Parts: sequence; C-alpha cells; structure tokens
Amino acid sequence: MKILLQGTGGADGVPAFYSDSRVSEYARQHRGKDIRTRTAALVDGILKIDLGPDTWHQVARDGLDARDWTALLFTHSDADHFAPDELMYSLYPFNDMEFAGFTIYANGYICRRLIEKYPDWPFEIVMTQSFRPFTHGGYLITPLHAHHKPDEDAHNFVIQDGDKNLLYGTDTGIWDEPTWEALAQFRLDCLILECSEGMAATAYDGHLDVNEFLMVLGRLREMGTVHEKTKILTTHHSHNGEATHQELVDFFAPHGVDVGYDGLLVEF
Ligand SMILES: [Zn+2]
Repeated sequence: MKILLQGTGGADGVPAFYSDSRVSEYARQHRGKDIRTRTAALVDGILKIDLGPDTWHQVARDGLDARDWTALLFTHSDADHFAPDELMYSLYPFNDMEFAGFTIYANGYICRRLIEKYPDWPFEIVMTQSFRPFTHGGYLITPLHAHHKPDEDAHNFVIQDGDKNLLYGTDTGIWDEPTWEALAQFRLDCLILECSEGMAATAYDGHLDVNEFLMVLGRLREMGTVHEKTKILTTHHSHNGEATHQELVDFFAPHGVDVGYDGLLVEF
C-alpha cells in the first residue's frame, strides 16, 4: 500500500494566508518542505481522502489525474477538507462525463450539504458512521470517531487492503475511549497522525501538540496497535505550531517519527 501526502498544512496553510508568524515568514523565504498546502491524501492512487481548497494545485504539482480516483472519502466538513464547489468540475458540462467516476463516502452532515447543493446531480453518495466498516473495491475501510467536532461525526480512517493496515488520523485531539477500544483490534503498518499545534499547545482539545502526539503514540505502542515495524508520520501542521519542518524533524527523530511534508509518497 502507498499513501501520498498531498497536503500537510493546517486550516490556513503554511505560510498562512494572512499571517506574519515566524513559521509563515520562514516558509516564504525557504519554501521547500516548509510550504504546506491544506491537508489531503491519496491512497494507492485511487482512494482520495478529503477534497480541500488546494486540490487543483496538488493534482497539478504531483502530475496526478483526478479521473483515476474511484472513491472520495471525507473526514469532516471543515473548509480545509471539504470544498464542495470543486466537485462540479467532475461532470458535464466541464467534461463529457455523465456520471462521476468515484463514490463519495461522507458523514451525515456532509451528505446533507452535498444533496442540498447538487440535488439533481448523479453523484453516488454513501453515508458513513464511525465504527461501521464498509468495503470499497478490495479495501475494508473503518471510520473511527475523531475527537474534533462536537457537532459532527468527524472521522479518522483505518484502511486495510487484506495485507497492509493504515490509520489516517487528521484532525483529532486525544481520542475518546470507544475509539481506543476500536483501535485495539488493529496492528498498523502505517500511522499518519496529525500534529496541528506543534510546539505551541493551546486550550483547544480537538488537535494534538507534539507532547500529546507522543502520549497517543505511547498508548498505541502499549496496545500493540503500533509496533516496531510501523511507519509513523505526522501531518496537518499549523503555522501557529511555532515549528519549522526541520525543528519538527529534530524533535521527533528520537521517537521514531517522521515528519510529513507535501508530496511525500509513503510505501509500506
Ligand atoms: Zn483540518
């Protein structure tokens, strides 16, 4: 299995759109791995996770073709993950297709938003619920409840292809107990976990800072869900996290954690 980290930035990206924060200024000057578009990923070239406002740029930058995607999985409805206007380009009159080449999997709130926006469009939309696994092609996909939005069933996803197991956990604070219980059944080959707050913890509990990241990782290791061969990477970094890419690399290196960056392809 492989996952392409298309975007690894927080809601306003890095450099942040309207910010002179230290990390934003550093990114403007140094570019490279410090440029972080809004968080999104692509599994095996066909399972697209989230469709945010930077999707067009990410596709063009990495030489991708959106027509290859067979599934569009939404984690939650925050604007950095859910840009519903972009869906219109998948069908006639923007191209010749009468049906989209992908199935949309999304929580109830997003499904309602899509049906309101596109009442007559022939999208195939499947409602997801946390802890209710579903299959798509040869994949078993288990949405887990993220600790992120009290008013919405935000998801992290476990994706299994029958051989390898991936957990993609963008946008979550420390999970609630039902999610920990569900995670106990998995042995992960790859863990992608958010670290939005970096070195600058806030009172908001819907994201992880570096120390919370290590707490979560420690518990996953104790459970055996993460083991010595699991590849571990970060994503969803905010400029407010007060850490450049290299500063995050230096912090995480002793802990066996790699810092994600835009365009990184992880194979496992
Ligand atoms: Zn986000």
